[in-house]
Amino acid sequence: MKVLKTLSDLDDGDIRSLYDGFDSPITTLDCGRKCSVHNPSGRPFCCDICHAVPAAYKSEWGYLASNTDLWHAWRGDECNQANGALTKLRAETPRGMILLACLGPDKCQRDYRALSCRQFPFFPYITSDYRFIGLACEWEFEAKCWVISNLSRVTDKYRREFIRVHDQLFAWFQDQFDNYAYHSEKMRAEYATRKQRFPLLHRNGVYYLVSPANERLTRVDSNRLPRYGYYK
Ligand code: SF4
Ligand code: SF4
Repeated sequence: MKVLKTLSDLDDGDIRSLYDGFDSPITTLDCGRKCSVHNPSGRPFCCDICHAVPAAYKSEWGYLASNTDLWHAWRGDECNQANGALTKLRAETPRGMILLACLGPDKCQRDYRALSCRQFPFFPYITSDYRFIGLACEWEFEAKCWVISNLSRVTDKYRREFIRVHDQLFAWFQDQFDNYAYHSEKMRAEYATRKQRFPLLHRNGVYYLVSPANERLTRVDSNRLPRYGYYK
């Protein structure tokens, strides 16, 4: 029988163990240097609260709040955004998660990065028949994130850690699996509208392009994957 936890069951030891098992950098170079030159604020896009608001599991927030001063609960006034955008962000926050803001990249404490920092720019891709088969990209960041245009640079170690930590999370939390199944469905709809295939870093170590309509996987040379925005 599957052991399911509720989000509040995660204790500090669980969180630390998840962090320690998901600590490798995405690439061997500092990708923040590649993207920050394109951001007027000079920050890496994923560490700029005006571009990305990190979310954490509530029990993860409990661990962070008692161990570091890096984070505070997101107030909504950290960036001068329109009310409509704030309301949308709140509405889209998955149940059991809380939005956070950090002190910024010049004061980052690597050991206390949230899981959402560690997984960016990827999310666990779930097929329509409910299999977690690999990493897909957060498509809203295609034009900004250097990694999404340079997927060949993602290390195998990072990919393995990503898969392992999400296998563990999904064994504990059915609702997180359901959230990502829904997110994956949205990705298929987005790419079906574009009439394009999307890249997938499969858990078997291979790169594929996925056809959004029938979910067929086509093996692809990682150096031939699409580039976007600033990185074309
Ligand atoms: S993950 Fe993407 S957005 Fe974040 S620092 Fe690296 S290149 Fe920039
Ligand atoms: S904690 Fe570090 S990695 Fe995460 S958003 Fe803040 S600066 Fe970026």
